[in-house]
Amino acid sequence: MELNICHLYPDVLNLYGDRGNVLCMQRRLQVRGVGVTVTGVSVGDPLDAAKYDLFFIGGGQDFEQAVLLQDLTGAKTQAICAAVEDGKPFLAICGGYQMLGKSYTTWDGQECEFTGALDLWTVGGKKRMIGDYCFTCDDLGGEPVVGFENHSGRTYLGASVQPMGKVLAGFGNNGEDGTEGVRYRNVFGTYSHGCLLPKNPKLADLILQTALARKYGSFDLAPLPDTLEQTAHDYMVKRLLKK
Ligand code: GLN
Repeated sequence: MELNICHLYPDVLNLYGDRGNVLCMQRRLQVRGVGVTVTGVSVGDPLDAAKYDLFFIGGGQDFEQAVLLQDLTGAKTQAICAAVEDGKPFLAICGGYQMLGKSYTTWDGQECEFTGALDLWTVGGKKRMIGDYCFTCDDLGGEPVVGFENHSGRTYLGASVQPMGKVLAGFGNNGEDGTEGVRYRNVFGTYSHGCLLPKNPKLADLILQTALARKYGSFDLAPLPDTLEQTAHDYMVKRLLKK
């Protein structure tokens, strides 16, 4: 049993140590005896999406996102869109999340076309939305997820996608409609750096479970002793919700 993880643009989109999400998924699989390979696919690399069971794309500044635009046209974009429609699991963080959308309009009005894999769009602004934040995860029955956000982009969801959940503290997608992140088929998109998964072990296992079940049929991940992770998670929930 093994999972092949594709890390998109690991050398370009890695703000706030988002790579830690890949390390977390790798470790949570290895300690359960599931083999895992991680392959970086960056600028100029071909993307054979059929080789991978799970995709990760991290966050980046507007500058890095612009650098990738050229690379994200044509075959790579088609491969990403086809993988999304085929139900391949994705975890996309902040800039990477935005790039799965249809477009990004920079704060000074330049409109950039993104992959169009998801029915969402982003409008850059001058005000940055920064800080620790907390939101519900509908897939986990409303369980709170904690993270750190730093974005000027305000993301709006179209009719064919759902949010990951509702903002409990902080800004979320746009600081206006109370939504955070996106869910579509097996795509999980969020503004949450942090990095996200080590402090949210239930979400980490949900994503791994999704990938394993898609590849091997139903699959039950044995629980891990997540005392440290859950304590860190619960501390942040209490602090952010002033419980
Ligand atoms: N450049 C994007 C923005 O500022 C994404 C930032 C990020 O990935 N942290 O909205």
